[in-house]
Formats: sequence, C-alpha cells, structure tokens
Amino acid sequence: MMRKLLIAGISIVVAAGTVICFMWQNKPVVSYQYLCGVPANQINDFYWSSPEKLVFDRNLRWNKKELKIYFTDIYDQRTISKILNLARKWTDVTGIVFTTTSDPEESDIRIAFRQGGGYQSLVGSQAKLAKETEGNKTTMFLSNLDQRGDEEFDRVVLHELGHAIGLYHELQSSNSPIQWDSLKVYAYFKRVYNWNTDMVNRQVMAPVRIGESTTFDPLSIMIYAIPDTLMKNHPTIEWPSDLSVMDRTKIRLLYP
Ligand SMILES: [Zn+2]
Repeated sequence: MMRKLLIAGISIVVAAGTVICFMWQNKPVVSYQYLCGVPANQINDFYWSSPEKLVFDRNLRWNKKELKIYFTDIYDQRTISKILNLARKWTDVTGIVFTTTSDPEESDIRIAFRQGGGYQSLVGSQAKLAKETEGNKTTMFLSNLDQRGDEEFDRVVLHELGHAIGLYHELQSSNSPIQWDSLKVYAYFKRVYNWNTDMVNRQVMAPVRIGESTTFDPLSIMIYAIPDTLMKNHPTIEWPSDLSVMDRTKIRLLYP
C-alpha cells in the first residue's frame, strides 16, 4: 500500500509537453493499472512522436478566458457536471471559465474516458497547437475515471485541469529538494510502466529548465506519488485532495 507519497517539486512550472501522471492509490505497486501513467506501449503515439513539440515556455498559457471542453465519448451529465464544478476552483483563481461544446471543431480541450491512455493531458495551450497540426485529437485522457471513487475523481480532475491550463508536475520543479536514487528510479519505472531511461528522465527526474518554478509546495495538487525508497532524502507527504494555498496564489503568475 502506498498511502504516503513522496513529493515532488512545485507546480507553477510553465513548461512543456505532455505530462503523464501517477495518481493511483491504495493498490500494491505491482498491480497498478493506469496510475495516471501508463506503460510505454499504451501511450498514444500522438504524444510522443514529435518530442520537439513538447518544449514550451510561458507562452503555454491560454490567451483567452473561456475554454470549451468537448467530451469525446461520455454523455453522462452527472459526470460532466462534476468536472465543471471542479473546474470552477481553477476559474476562481485564473478567471478562465470552462464550458462544454458538442462541436469538436470549436473545442479547446477534448477529454476521453474510454480510450485508454491512463490519466494524462497536454500542457496548456499545447492543445491549441495540437489542434492546428493534428486535428481534433484527444488532449486529455481520464480513462474510466468515472468508475473510480470521488476522492480519486476529484484529485485527478483538478490535477489534469492544472496541466490543461499550463502547469507541470511539481516533481520536476527546479526547486525540488528531492535527491533521486536514479538506479532505483529507473528500475522502478521499468518494472511498473516498462519505461526506458529516457522516458523516466523526461517524465520524472529531469527538472523543467524552460519554465518557471516557485517555492517547493508539498501540498500542491500537481504532486504525484513516488515510493520514498526511490529518493535518498525521503520527503514524504499525503496525497493532495484540493488546490493548495500556493497553487491558488502562484497560478496568478500565469494568469494575472
Ligand atoms: Zn500529472
């Protein structure tokens, strides 16, 4: 069981690319399924075929105040309402209003529940770039999240929406105090996700250099679980359940 997590850096890193998340709880590591992160062979080629697209900077912020969501394969109004209600937490601190559309052509964010892919999202306005070059492909995967409990649902939705408005993982903050035990990290992600070292570097250990990092925030919603045995200095925290005070404050750096 992995009830405590090790932390990661902070979140207001404006950076780049697709992020794959690790947010699964209360299951032995070996039986992880999606983990807000998926084995390499399940990752949509779209996200990894052009790594040069995955480098961004402050320009990843959205220059608009309404983001229209198109749900590609779910029509349950209760689930959609839950997402929109959670999105209001980000609206309160960014001014960005999330609405829905039934027309993918006019959508900004496209969310799939039934396509596999675990939990992942493009970062910020990368979704706009993707639409221009790739068409109306899915920009956020919430694989069967509607079949999970409320606690996980809320945490994952807030986390993925954080990515969708431009936040990167705390883990890769340049201010992260984590001292990785890299050989153990490579072995862990190889075993659990079948990731190679390059993927581990990009998704876990490499600090985001292009963006901006604020003070380390162990309570950020943008943190995810890593066994503390993978770190030499063993910082441990609980799962986040809501936007932290610092999340609310720092996001204004992106959306003043
Ligand atoms: Zn994530």
